[in-house]
Amino acid sequence: MYPVMLDVTDRLCLVVGGGGIALRKAQGLVEEGARVTVVAPEVVDPLAKMAQEGRLRLERRSYEPGESVTYALVFAATDDREVNARVFADADDAGVWVNVADDPELCSFHLPGRVRRGPLQIAIASAGEAPFAVRRLRQILERRFGAEWAEWVAAASRFRNRVYSLGVAPADQEALFDRFFSSTVDAENWKARVPTAAEEAEWISAPVDHLDEAAAAEGACREGDSNRGFVSLVGSGPGCPGLLTVRGRQRLFEADTVVYDRLAAPALPCGLGPEVELHPVGKEAGVHPMPQEEINALLVRLARQGQRVVRLKGGDPYVFGRGGEEGEVLEAEGIAFEVIPGVTSGVAAMAWAGIPVTHRREAVRLTLLTAHEAVKSDGPQVRWDLLAQDKNATIIGYMGVTALPEVVHQLLGGGMDPSTPAAMVEQGTTASQKKVISTLAGLPDAIVEAGLRPPALFAIGPTIGHSDNLDWFSRLPLAGERLVVPDAAEVVARRLEAAGAEVVPVPFPVTPAARVVMAALPVTGCVVTSPAEIDWIHDERGGPGWIDDAPSWCVGEETAARARQRGWRRVHELSTGLDCSDLVAEIAEIRR
Ligand code: SAH
Repeated sequence: MYPVMLDVTDRLCLVVGGGGIALRKAQGLVEEGARVTVVAPEVVDPLAKMAQEGRLRLERRSYEPGESVTYALVFAATDDREVNARVFADADDAGVWVNVADDPELCSFHLPGRVRRGPLQIAIASAGEAPFAVRRLRQILERRFGAEWAEWVAAASRFRNRVYSLGVAPADQEALFDRFFSSTVDAENWKARVPTAAEEAEWISAPVDHLDEAAAAEGACREGDSNRGFVSLVGSGPGCPGLLTVRGRQRLFEADTVVYDRLAAPALPCGLGPEVELHPVGKEAGVHPMPQEEINALLVRLARQGQRVVRLKGGDPYVFGRGGEEGEVLEAEGIAFEVIPGVTSGVAAMAWAGIPVTHRREAVRLTLLTAHEAVKSDGPQVRWDLLAQDKNATIIGYMGVTALPEVVHQLLGGGMDPSTPAAMVEQGTTASQKKVISTLAGLPDAIVEAGLRPPALFAIGPTIGHSDNLDWFSRLPLAGERLVVPDAAEVVARRLEAAGAEVVPVPFPVTPAARVVMAALPVTGCVVTSPAEIDWIHDERGGPGWIDDAPSWCVGEETAARARQRGWRRVHELSTGLDCSDLVAEIAEIRR
């Protein structure tokens, strides 16, 4: 049995018979727009009435052999099995689909039981074997599915058309549909609701994460078991927004509140809606960081309010991030929490600087340490003397700018070769990355000369010798650019990122999260693809983070004209077409 839904609009359909069953078949077909002929010597009144109203054609006579072959669908419902068999044989020989009521042997198709809510139809069938069971199941479903499902499916259809008309990439469409579905359907209770226009707008404007569906399911589970609040300790990665994990990003989009460190700010997703509360707790320019006890208390308070809290920390929460302390406080307070690791800066910044932290036969051990340990008055916990002896190893030092001279002093004192390769990387993986390659003995002076400042890491060991060979990042044509790009221009963003630029995908209306991200590191320019975008970027330009007179890269003449009209300076008109295939080449050329 092969299930189909037939569009019978304007199709010629024949119903042989004039009783109650024939009436129901005729009604069903007429409702769907079929052109129905009823053949029967006598008919029940409603059939006669339908004929009078011109809704079907009625021929008060007996069935004539062979007449069924010109129809698309044929139904027989007479009380004479011979007539029924005749109708079936005629139609079946001619390849016309035919159904004889209550006679499965004389059917080339069966009619399912159905529950109908507007365009939504649920069909139930038993291949003609147990119609009584189908009827009872149908009744159960009739009760289960309230009338609201008709409106819901109409809303779903509108939403789908809207997503299509916006030209959303096919890969992203499903995620938007997931948002619609998981927010409007209570699958456990078979309830549905029509979303508000504001909700729909939000689903459409929030950036798509391909694991949305799983996230929604997980989120629903967590909501289900309590509203006691929940804290996710999430590692943001080293600064480059793309190095935030998929799961970390999911949690951010499920969060009510985000408590973030300064180093984590560049990785905040710009698409977080304005309803998400943002608490900066790190050191902002001139402002002291919130003491750890206060951060702990804040997390507890927010969770107690029943909020889903993301505690976003730079790099990995457990690598010199005090994540363990926060977890223990939550545990002691009976607050459920989880840890989502991040890419630690010690490994990632080095990768961006061309330094593999291990290398076969050269470095077989990796030590991550905090350089503060070198300058502690109460005696260091680090055995510098032992590290100094370990030749086939890499040392990565966090928080190492001020303590570096003391570290070097200790290592040289322990007998380490002064010519051991050494490096320092500031703001690794971001557009502001700087690196200095030197030797153990030479590094302290070299970083002063180059003006390196925190946040920075040092690395000491033989693998640093590979940094020229493996320096893939600074060779990229747009390395060092941190560009604001309207978040709708996804193709543009991908191309810029592939060329080494860091992209700040700002949505319109501009979210508070996007403003935090812009302010987190210098914005070196913007790429604008239409005059309308100029108008809203105009209000952001010059805000925190933007360098003075940041250049704008404008796709098309009109866009550039609008920028100039708004008084922007350093406006570059790009001749690239809408596919932006030459975008990178053009920007790189002008930059030179
Ligand atoms: N939990 C973080 C480290 C926090 S300690 C992680 O796993 O990366 C803060 C120190 O991390 C800074 O002083 C600096 O030494 C280092 N750091 C963090 N991000 C950095 C980056 N992008 N570039 C260089 N160093 C970084």
